[in-house]
Amino acid sequence: MTTIYQTLAQRSAADWQQRLSQFEYRIANFIDGEHCPALSGETFEVVNPATGNVHGTAPRSGAADVDVAVNSARRAFKSGSWSRLAPRDRMAVLYRFAQLIEEHAEAFAMLDVLDMGKPITDMLEVDVPYSALSFQFFAETIDKLEGSVTNTTPEALHYILRQPLGVVGLIVPWNYPLLMAAWKLGPALSMGNSVVLKPAEQSPSSAVLLAQLFIQAGGPAGVFNVVQGLGYEAGEALALHMNVDKIGFTGSVEVGKKMFIYAGQSNMKRVTTECGGKSPQIILADVADLDRAVSYAVNGIYANQGEVCNAGSRLLVQDSLYDEFIERFTTVAQARYLPGDPFDPSTRMGSMVSFQQQKRVLGYIDKANAEGGRLVFGGGVPKGLEHGAFVSPTLYADVAPEMTLAREEVFGPVAAAIRVQGLEHALQIANDSIYGLAASVWTQNIDKALTFARDVEAGIVWVNCFDHGDMTQPWGGFKQSGNGRDRCLEALTQYSQTKSVWVHLGG
Ligand code: NAD
Repeated sequence: MTTIYQTLAQRSAADWQQRLSQFEYRIANFIDGEHCPALSGETFEVVNPATGNVHGTAPRSGAADVDVAVNSARRAFKSGSWSRLAPRDRMAVLYRFAQLIEEHAEAFAMLDVLDMGKPITDMLEVDVPYSALSFQFFAETIDKLEGSVTNTTPEALHYILRQPLGVVGLIVPWNYPLLMAAWKLGPALSMGNSVVLKPAEQSPSSAVLLAQLFIQAGGPAGVFNVVQGLGYEAGEALALHMNVDKIGFTGSVEVGKKMFIYAGQSNMKRVTTECGGKSPQIILADVADLDRAVSYAVNGIYANQGEVCNAGSRLLVQDSLYDEFIERFTTVAQARYLPGDPFDPSTRMGSMVSFQQQKRVLGYIDKANAEGGRLVFGGGVPKGLEHGAFVSPTLYADVAPEMTLAREEVFGPVAAAIRVQGLEHALQIANDSIYGLAASVWTQNIDKALTFARDVEAGIVWVNCFDHGDMTQPWGGFKQSGNGRDRCLEALTQYSQTKSVWVHLGG
């Protein structure tokens, strides 16, 4: 059977342009089951970064809008329309929701591409199917979770219930607008919470359709609300709100740290964070297949324009194969990641999310030049694409571990290659970072592989691959990469709380 993704993959860039010319969509707040503007009537422009054109306006919400959304979420939670729905009924809604997401793959793909300039092919291969999967996965868990009875004194029955938190605020970034929301909405909704989602201001569009489809799937009004707006306005108001029980945040370290401050300044709400990274990809001399390692390393840094939390931006390559690695990496990267029109299905690299992000990435390139990095390829704006926020895939070699490029998250298509003497040296450099999201090692030596897995300070470790995984894999970091775990069973514990019930027996 042909899937909707395979059908859509047949389209040419011209076909997509034709569809876009008829495409109607709405960028709004979505509160209590209804589209609405900001109470102030204020808006901000939403720019397609691949063309520079404004493609819509979004409500510029403030504290008053957040208040209305949180009240709606609280009302829905208290009514029990979702929080106390029979588990299999809640499951049925989430399955239908997942199905509707797939049926609307075309619209979701277009919305995220318009907002952030990522390739349409990525939307069809990754973002849309994996977003649907997040709801399927967490729907499956709903009636499988059990509470427990403890082995306590015969004079009591002590049981532990797992219950929803109440109203959850979700603040998400722009790099995978639909997917990052889905990873948090899946566990939050499956546990019976009500939600207020604040999308990134660069990518407000797909969240509105998502919330609409939840209602279409049979979800009650008020359970899934969307408030658009700027981080320091709508985002801050949500994180400071006294009637929000938890903030699930994905974004930068800088803003992630603020979530804990807001929690302390308000109601000590729970906070989980998924923040940035500077992930090392370590290639040791005994790698079984250098071409395979090169292929993964290239995708590891350039997929999604390098705007990936776990981007393998540090290439730690053992001295004896370093030069050959750089040569092969250059050939593969230049053939595979040619920046171009995101709506062309052959494009694997689109534009940066914004002109501001382009400037930021180019700033890191300037710094790498000033600090003595050796530019191997890229290093600027690709010719013929000056109208959009494009950056060429870039590689610096002979980067010293203390250079800015080896230490800070660029969040763009810029790789730093560093020579290492062997595993111990690689581990020392890998761990010398404020981040600890992901790491990979390529080796045939089982002792080295397992030593690396034990000692590397990262929440996600790959051996002889990069970026493999599925919904069973806890997604989150060590150190300043955050304290949360998305997309696994553990995520459910982050959107629920335990209640101990002690029943005295025998009068
Ligand atoms: P960001 O921190 O600037 O913004 C993230 C979200 O926070 C946005 O919705 C923004 O509006 C909001 N925000 C900004 N300031 C705020 C404030 N003062 N109060 C409340 N909300 C505020 O991050 P970004 O640029 O959108 O995203 C890129 C970052 O996200 C990178 O660091 C990347 O590594 C990280 N990320 C991490 C993961 C992960 O799973 N660990 C996944 C994707 C992205």
